[in-house]
This record gives sequence, C-alpha cells and structure tokens, in this order.
Amino acid sequence: MQCSVGWVGTGVMGRSMCGHLLAAGCAVRVHTRTREKAADLLAKGAAWAATPREAAAGADVTFSMVGFPADVEQVILGPDGVLAGAEAGSVAVDMSTSQPSLAVRIHAEAAARGIAALDAPVSGGDVGAREAKLAIMVGGDRPVFERVLPLFQKLGETIALMGGPGSGQHTKMVNQIAIAGNMIGVVEGLLYAHKAGLDQAAVIDVIGKGAAGSWSINNLGRRIVKGDFNPGFFIKHFVKDMGIALDEARSMKLSLPGLALVHQFYVSAQAVGLENLGTQGLYQVLARMNGM
Ligand code: NAP
Repeated sequence: MQCSVGWVGTGVMGRSMCGHLLAAGCAVRVHTRTREKAADLLAKGAAWAATPREAAAGADVTFSMVGFPADVEQVILGPDGVLAGAEAGSVAVDMSTSQPSLAVRIHAEAAARGIAALDAPVSGGDVGAREAKLAIMVGGDRPVFERVLPLFQKLGETIALMGGPGSGQHTKMVNQIAIAGNMIGVVEGLLYAHKAGLDQAAVIDVIGKGAAGSWSINNLGRRIVKGDFNPGFFIKHFVKDMGIALDEARSMKLSLPGLALVHQFYVSAQAVGLENLGTQGLYQVLARMNGM
C-alpha cells in the first residue's frame, strides 16, 4: 500500500494500530512521549520524529492516539503540534476519545491552514486494536472520510461516518454511556455469583451466550475471574470519558442518572489508587465494599 503516515501516541491502543499501518507497507514517522513505547515500531522500520510536528511533516495523513483532551490539544494544536508540521492538503485524524467541542475546534483550525481533519474514536479495546477489529466512528467531511477509509480498513472492521465534525466523538460518548451501565452489571453479577458459591467462569460460559452476553462480560468478566486487572482500558480514561459525556449531557439539559452513579463508583476507584487498573478493577471497589 502506498501511503505516508505520521503517528502520535503509541500506548496500549496506538502501538498496535500504528503497527498495522506499518505492516500494510506505509512509510510511518512516529512520535510518542515515552520513546521506549515506540521501540518495537522503530525496530520494524518506522522513523522516529522528535515532535508531533515532525511526525506530520510530509505525511498524507497524521493520526493521533493519546490520552486526554489536554494531550490532544497539545499534540494537534500546540506549537510543536501536528497542524504546525502538516502540509496543506493533508489530513489530521484524531482517534483518541476526546471532547466533541475540541474536535470541532481542530476541524476549524485545520481548515484555516488548508488541512482536513477527522475525529475518529474507536471501540473494541486492546483486543480489537491488536486484531484490527475496531469499530471506528468518524466525524468530518465525506470526501476526507473516503480518502482515509483504506487506512481505517487496516485498523478496524466497522467503520462509519456519523456526521460532521464532533459526530465521531458524540457517537463514542453513546458507546461509553452504554458500557458504563454494562460494567456495573457485570461486576455486580460476578460478585453475586461468588457470594452464591457459583463457579464464576461457568456462569460466564452460560450467560455470556444468552441475553446478558456482552463484550464486557466475555472479555473483562473473564479477566476478573482470572484476577487479571491490568489495562486494557484504564480506569483514568473511563473517568475522563464519563466526565465528557456528563458535561455534554448537562449542556443539552439531559439527565443521565445511571451514568452519574457509575461515574461516582469509578471516581472512588481513583480515590483508592486504582486509576491505572483496567476498568474491570471496579470489581475490587465493590468487593471491598462487601468485605470480600
Ligand atoms: P495509553 O496507553 O495511555 O496511550 C496513550 C499514549 O499517548 C501514551 O503512550 C502516552 O505517552 C502518549 N501521549 C499522551 N500524551 C502525549 C503527548 N502530549 N505527547 C506525546 N505522546 C503523548 O492509552 P490507550 O489505552 O492507548 O488509549 C488512548 C486513547 O484511546 C484514550 O483517549 C482512550 O480513552 C482511548 N481508548 C482506549 C481504549 C482501550 O481499550 N485502551 C479503547 C478505546 C479508546 P506516555 O506513554 O508517556 O504516557
């Protein structure tokens, strides 16, 4: 595949995703805050860029997959950011989960420099990133979406343009709202199974195939049973996402009490120092509350 790509952010998700583009034959310039986290990509032929600005220089498309909205702002809009290095006619694609309003701002600031921009957050977790099976929800202009689509197809299986700038991030918020309710259900269900003396793995084998089946119970529920609380998807990032969704809902005068409650449980997970666990770490919070 003929492509010249910049990539910023090679953590849990970005490293696998960038690796797929490299494997597809793209020329990749990569930047991330902690260089060691790009070591395997550099060994496979990616070139190191000292800044996001350098990563974007000469690239047709520059992707970012960083943590928080403040990181997105820095790596795209900052003085050494993607827009400072990208050429007119190129595309900046932010795949981090971030604020819809920031996506709209990036689109406008990019357009002022003749650069196109898409917001393209993902769902499917670390497994989806590794296996190139992500769902990718995109906001932006259709011709730009169609231009980047062949690259998205190297990263995911379900790829959809949801509307104009910010629509990808709004769609991801819907995803996170649905997952919040699902996570508390999975955790409480497995606690109940334990207390009732059931084999938790056997419970997942059965109910994971019925109406209670979900990605969360079949992937994260199984990690809970094995005592594996590694991320996956960091609690600190889930708290960020639920905070964005609650802010957006408030500004739309929309009450989401279920989301607010789950948000509070995860804030308490942060408060007891569990923010760098995967989201299945909520199990530990409720287990402690129940003296388990
Ligand atoms: P992560 O492991 O923390 O990766 C983020 C990477 O970006 C880190 O390597 C980080 O550097 C780098 N970074 C952050 N700020 C930077 C900056 N200012 N300049 C350069 N590099 C910077 O997080 P992740 O799990 O891959 O998640 C990335 C994004 O995807 C988040 O927005 C998350 O909410 C979203 N997401 C995650 C999942 C999941 O299951 N993990 C699923 C869907 C969406 P350091 O290594 O130095 O911290």
